Amino acid sequence: MLIDAPVHAVDPLLLAAGAALLGLLIGSFLNVVIHRLPRMLETEWRAQCEELAGREPAPAARYDLIAPRSHCPACQTPIRFLHLLPLLGWLLARGRCAACGVEIPTRYPLVEALTALLFALAALHFGFGWTLAAAMLVTAVLVALTFIDFDTQLLPDQLTLPLMWVGLAASLPAGRAPDALLGAMAGYLSLWSVYWAFKLVTGKEGMGYGDFKLLAALGAWLGWQALVPIVLIASVAGAVAGLALIARGDHARDTPIAFGPWLAIAGWLVMLWGEGLLPAFQRLLTGG
Ligand SMILES: [Zn+2]
Repeated sequence: MLIDAPVHAVDPLLLAAGAALLGLLIGSFLNVVIHRLPRMLETEWRAQCEELAGREPAPAARYDLIAPRSHCPACQTPIRFLHLLPLLGWLLARGRCAACGVEIPTRYPLVEALTALLFALAALHFGFGWTLAAAMLVTAVLVALTFIDFDTQLLPDQLTLPLMWVGLAASLPAGRAPDALLGAMAGYLSLWSVYWAFKLVTGKEGMGYGDFKLLAALGAWLGWQALVPIVLIASVAGAVAGLALIARGDHARDTPIAFGPWLAIAGWLVMLWGEGLLPAFQRLLTGG
């Protein structure tokens, strides 16, 4: 009987292809978030400073995630509809602005392709269902946070806090609210303690409050059990990358290295392959 057909009868490859297509579209929107959110925050902070100083903030043109339309950063020409298509638009325009010929950074198609790939992997791993929808949501926010932190050393509250609250809310119907609540609290407090210990010992700030909130959000989604693997993977990857940068002379020893991207990458890996990773970590820690 057709009615008894199980939900997982969706062809996995077809599902992955659909997820990749959705990933291209979402990735295209993430490009806008990555580019505009830090600028929106800066404008807001400037306006608040002006207000505090008792000055009238200068009126500015509308600038948010919707307006103005996507345009060439060099000649301001709005981008033609066909060239707005994710990935394909960039290929059609051969990576250049159609009006002035200035190169469009490969970052844009890269973010789209990356989001598509991560969505497809999540679809193959989780199959069709609510878990996949949740995994895509988490993936999208993590991609945006990773690039924003690389660019600006900021993890905006506008992304980390909703990610945490939605994670806590999603744990209720899934029947794992205690794990999620503990995960959020321990995630925040663990990095908060490291921050203060580091600051008291060295007088320097090793990371930012955004890092605590991001780990809290990951703890809310993945449970407290995921925190140790996430922090270990992120620390090792971050240290290796930091040493590589210092060795190449690209990075001064004293400037903090963005930890957020590594937390995000580690969190994503644990989200997909955590069940396999957790026992391995337990064996590693207990020497068993
Ligand atoms: Zn142009």
